Amino acid sequence: MAIYQWAAKVIIFQTTANFEKIYNTLLWLKIHIFHVKKKHNFSLSLNVIKQHEARMYKQIISNEIKAKALHLAFDACGIAKADFLEADAHYLQTWLEGENQAGMSYMTNHFEKRTDPRLLVLNARSVIVVLMNYYPLQQQAPHLPQIAKYAYGKDYHEVIKDKLRSLLEQIQDLIPGKKISGRVFTDSAPVLERRWAVNAGLGWIGKNTNLIHPKLGSFCFIGELIVDMELAYDEPLPNRCGTCTRCMDTCPTQALEAPGKLNANRCISYLTIESKEAIPAELRPLIGNRLYGCDTCQDACPWNRFAKGTNDPDLAPLNGILDMNKQQWIMLQEETFKETFKFSPIKRVGLEKIQQTLTDCF
Ligand code: SF4
Ligand code: SF4
Repeated sequence: MAIYQWAAKVIIFQTTANFEKIYNTLLWLKIHIFHVKKKHNFSLSLNVIKQHEARMYKQIISNEIKAKALHLAFDACGIAKADFLEADAHYLQTWLEGENQAGMSYMTNHFEKRTDPRLLVLNARSVIVVLMNYYPLQQQAPHLPQIAKYAYGKDYHEVIKDKLRSLLEQIQDLIPGKKISGRVFTDSAPVLERRWAVNAGLGWIGKNTNLIHPKLGSFCFIGELIVDMELAYDEPLPNRCGTCTRCMDTCPTQALEAPGKLNANRCISYLTIESKEAIPAELRPLIGNRLYGCDTCQDACPWNRFAKGTNDPDLAPLNGILDMNKQQWIMLQEETFKETFKFSPIKRVGLEKIQQTLTDCF
């Protein structure tokens, strides 16, 4: 298909707001191809020009997808090729053999799908990765039982999935006449989210095992939309942890056993949220006042120094939960708990577990 046909196809279905951007891009492309032809004395084969056109078309569509993601209030978006994650498969195998997953037995399920999205989504070609900053504007007073910042507001799974579904619809509108299929994920299926974020050029995995975006820091939710169309792919960024070891030095339980190696058996996030067992007696004195999750290794990270509080109303702290003191948590009744936390990720842990942590560790 000639470039002008691509242009017509794209332009017809753009909103007025995007018209000028697309038009300018295509004008630039037309001029660029003219120069390429001229430079090669008009001897470039038609095939090469068609490949060039196809690459530019993918780039234009990819740029549009990223613009739409930002318009949906995501804070960053990148795209990676859906492929087998060979290095991660080796690492995950060793990590699981070392039983670092503690009681999270689901990590052992779907090993093949977890390391190859093409087995998870039919005809998967691209992984569109989005980040959503959840760093709160307000925080708890340090003496109160601490809740991890990601859990201040509504359950983020639904917030992100709704936005990703909307992004998929908008991509389908972008390319009329071609059916684009895809699936959305956030922390809900066997997807190595942080690795995809790295492959999509959104940051690197720090020594604290979190994804670090160079501008947003690490207090971000990650979501993925895996689609069956080829797009233009981003380049991974280099790891910028350097010689810093602050996260490892400040971890209260020494759960970060080596750079990027987390022993979940010792991690307070796991112990206070995921674990069905009582917190081991030898670790209880190290829990401090961390009631639900732990942000210590992220708070220590210098890349979070410039984290900006989010204004997203979907992520605003739920009424009153930042001010709850130990006595209020202990006195909380099941009915009130269910009502107060019905939209919160905290409801999945259950009141019994929370009160057990308070009794054992505070
Ligand atoms: S979340 Fe807390 S306990 Fe877990 S590795 Fe980070 S600092 Fe350590
Ligand atoms: S605290 Fe330092 S070592 Fe740890 S993740 Fe941040 S930059 Fe990397």
